[in-house]
Amino acid sequence: MLRFVTITLLLLPLGAADLAQEGQRWWSHIQVLADDKMEGRNTGSEGHRKAAQFVAGEFERAGLKAAGVTGYIQPVKLRVSEIVESACSLEVIQEGKATPLKLGDDATLGVRPGLAEHVDAPGVFVGYGLAIPEYKFDDFSGLDLKGKIVVYITGGPKEVPSAMRAHYSSRSERWKAIAKTGAIGLVEIPNPKSMDIPWERSTLARLNATMTLADPKLEDIHGMQFNARINPAFADKVLANSGHKFAEILALADAAKPLPKFALNVNLRAKTQYKSSDVESQNVAAILPGSDPKLKDEYVVFTAHLDHVGVGQPINGDKIYNGAMDDASGVATLLEIAILLKEQPVKWKRSVLFVTVTGEEKGMLGSRYYSIHPTVPAKSIVADLNVDMFLPLFPLKYLEVQGLAESTLGADIREVCKKAGITVQADKEPDRNLFIRSDQYSFIRQGVPALAFKFGYEDKSPEEKIAKDWLKNRYHAPSDDLDQPVDKAAAARFNRVLLELGERVANASSRPQWNADSFFRRFAK
Ligand SMILES: [Zn+2]
Repeated sequence: MLRFVTITLLLLPLGAADLAQEGQRWWSHIQVLADDKMEGRNTGSEGHRKAAQFVAGEFERAGLKAAGVTGYIQPVKLRVSEIVESACSLEVIQEGKATPLKLGDDATLGVRPGLAEHVDAPGVFVGYGLAIPEYKFDDFSGLDLKGKIVVYITGGPKEVPSAMRAHYSSRSERWKAIAKTGAIGLVEIPNPKSMDIPWERSTLARLNATMTLADPKLEDIHGMQFNARINPAFADKVLANSGHKFAEILALADAAKPLPKFALNVNLRAKTQYKSSDVESQNVAAILPGSDPKLKDEYVVFTAHLDHVGVGQPINGDKIYNGAMDDASGVATLLEIAILLKEQPVKWKRSVLFVTVTGEEKGMLGSRYYSIHPTVPAKSIVADLNVDMFLPLFPLKYLEVQGLAESTLGADIREVCKKAGITVQADKEPDRNLFIRSDQYSFIRQGVPALAFKFGYEDKSPEEKIAKDWLKNRYHAPSDDLDQPVDKAAAARFNRVLLELGERVANASSRPQWNADSFFRRFAK
């Protein structure tokens, strides 16, 4: 008993917050959002609609103003593509002889509007399949790729800074570079070292519907006829006639040596069939007006994605993918920040905009839609602080920050963490491309400086093992549910860190700026 009291007193100076109680309240939002009743909050589903309603209600209870189109809701129209796998096939054609690849085990086919029903084209291995003009890096130069299908391994040249590499590895930028060569399709072979989810599990998601924004003007991929992913364990089935082995390419990639480019000397022949339909989903937006007569016309945005992947293939008898950490946890953090702001007497100078976005799992669609159709003037958005799956699985000693070196926000989060005794870490795993893999990227592409956050750890520490095991076992699995060990007090501490960061940005005399040497400065308007 005495010991407990002592510990509580020791905690008080850290922001004078009752972290245990705040952590419990944070968790209580997740208990609603990740309940089986929400059916995994798939974009466009009834479960997602209910979750959006819940968030809108909580925003209202926290005293925030509605900032959607209909109340707190901004509807987002989407186009759905569902693969009819029984009518699809993929074969490697060598001198007229066809070797079928087993869909699901050997390869998966991508679907999106505009793909061709039949393709039959020569395959060419193109290294990482990247063109990065700033580093005069071009995997396509000197190759005749017209009418061909490019095959690449994930990753990229180590000399390119991670944020820039992530940008050029994004779906749209990569395809832009490939399309220029006249190639008609692409095949990805993941490097097993940077796969978040083992193939055996990730392949279960191949039958899930894919989505794109319904407005064709917002579509940034044109002319792609074919798209597939190959199981790295069977990559040699595709390389068989090239004189190269996948193990050799992996060894070169791991040693950061240049990768060879070569004709596969086979054709890839595919039949792709899919069904299309339309659906509507919801962004939820709310505002806490600022107190300064001038600065209140500027907004600091907090974002988190409300959607998860819904109901899918059962694993251990469970088919509801609850998405408790991904990303009910981030939405809960936004709700906590709203509640904490309501509780505190001093108001921030700039306004705060809270947006929970839909369609993140389908390719950051809700945030892209919001960033192009914001419900406040686009120029008034000064920063995006995005919270996606920050994984509070152990105490918060290290905070990993994506975008740290890109804008003045980097110095802000460093200052906040310094005061809190938390060590800031830069992106630890550039090969996972995390900076472009969540909703902050939609805002960055509109010129808005942004940061994203995760619990960090030291190399080879027990915490590293906990985080990696979580990805392997629970990430995008039904076991990312309410029945998992989470450090709720650490999450509350994280929420307080974000609150302080928000305050610092909202009260600063000038708005955040991209650093002079930031690659992403080019998007600033
Ligand atoms: Zn996810």
